[in-house]
Amino acid sequence: MKRFIAAFFVMQVIKFLVGLRLEWGWLGERGVGPWDRLPVTVLLPTLVAMVVVLWMDRELPRRLFDRRVKQPLTQISFGAAAGFLSAAVSAVATRMLANLAMDFLALVIAAAVTATAVLLSMPRMRPGRCVQCGATLVPGEKRCLNCFADRSDAVPGLAEKMAG
Ligand SMILES: [Zn+2]
Repeated sequence: MKRFIAAFFVMQVIKFLVGLRLEWGWLGERGVGPWDRLPVTVLLPTLVAMVVVLWMDRELPRRLFDRRVKQPLTQISFGAAAGFLSAAVSAVATRMLANLAMDFLALVIAAAVTATAVLLSMPRMRPGRCVQCGATLVPGEKRCLNCFADRSDAVPGLAEKMAG
């Protein structure tokens, strides 16, 4: 989860730096200096993504965000993908919108929509399934028969009921 957010944040920083290089900031033409905007441009989408991640983790938990899953590169890739999409969508929207308030709204909506879409594409955590690979756990087996992860990796709940 931390890696996802960190990668998302890095993509917003990259977007800001690219914008700075291209035209002195994405919103520079609106009379707001790019450095004044830096906190909003970078932190606002990251904050929105963070809220989406926390909400999703409560409502529809993703396997990759489970503490037991050690797949840093995959976690970073998903975060970077969401961050890139969010940056690209909001950059295009900013070019088309008329005022600063709309730009901020575009930042929020772009981050919320892209983060949600990417999170939904990540494998879900399901009761009775292995948290590492998603295979159905066989009751009574000590290990996942697909990836040989320890059964303590099982999602608690249905798995225990099935075994018991
Ligand atoms: Zn497994």
